[in-house]
Amino acid sequence: MKVIEVKNLKKAFGENPVLEGVDLTVNKSEVVVIMGPSGSGKSTFLRCLTYLEEPNEGIIRIGPHELHTGGKLDRKRKKEIRELRKKTGFVFQSFNLFPNKTAIENVMEGPVTIYGVKPVEAKALAETLLIKVGLGDRCDHYPSQLSGGQQQRVAIARALSLNPTVMLYDEPTSALDPELVREVLQVIKELAEEGMTMVIVTHEMNFAREVADRVIFMDGGVIVEQGNPEDVFDHPKEERTRRFLTMAE
Ligand code: ADP
Ligand code: MG
Repeated sequence: MKVIEVKNLKKAFGENPVLEGVDLTVNKSEVVVIMGPSGSGKSTFLRCLTYLEEPNEGIIRIGPHELHTGGKLDRKRKKEIRELRKKTGFVFQSFNLFPNKTAIENVMEGPVTIYGVKPVEAKALAETLLIKVGLGDRCDHYPSQLSGGQQQRVAIARALSLNPTVMLYDEPTSALDPELVREVLQVIKELAEEGMTMVIVTHEMNFAREVADRVIFMDGGVIVEQGNPEDVFDHPKEERTRRFLTMAE
């Protein structure tokens, strides 16, 4: 079953074309890792998927929600964008937690404000999710009292709180001290094992080898090459992929 279908996605910032026609299909429970040099359009691609950036052209479908780009953002389309976002958990490089809320309040916030879940129920759900990411004993800590790795795990729990169809991660470990990377990747790996559908932009190649069903190499706003991790990392077909991998070593 296809969970994400993107066709011919294009985005320019002014005169600067950043996505030049990206097609992507992601199946249920598939884990797709996107790699590529800085500036190749990886973040813009993820952001366009949820309309954090408005694409110029293309079709995006996530679950039952299909967005045709272009044209005016009228009320009907804005509603469709909101519905699509609810089904998409987004984890950013900078953890983006509310600094004045505790870990558990951060995780409760979405269900309460978006779905009108009763606070007691939302709190129970949030606690379950914090236990799941290994932070059952940090529920009442504020972000400033948590390490970067712990904050990012709260951010993952928060993204999970709306029961998303798919999780998107944009370099989730790039802002972390090296010793904290593993605990975050471990949580993502466990979600993969549970069958969560995920698209992950990361430079962590060992992680990609372990967890990815498919690796996509992006450069210059297009998908240059994709395949299983062994094929892309050990037998890249394209010169651009080879050059990137040599530099990344
Ligand atoms: P990556 O995540 O692969 O490093 P990005 O998607 O962040 O690449 O950026 C791709 C290109 O788009 C870069 O040239 C960047 O400067 C440009 N870009 C990204 N966001 C914006 C923006 N909001 N306004 C103008 N240019 C942008
Ligand atoms: Mg980026």
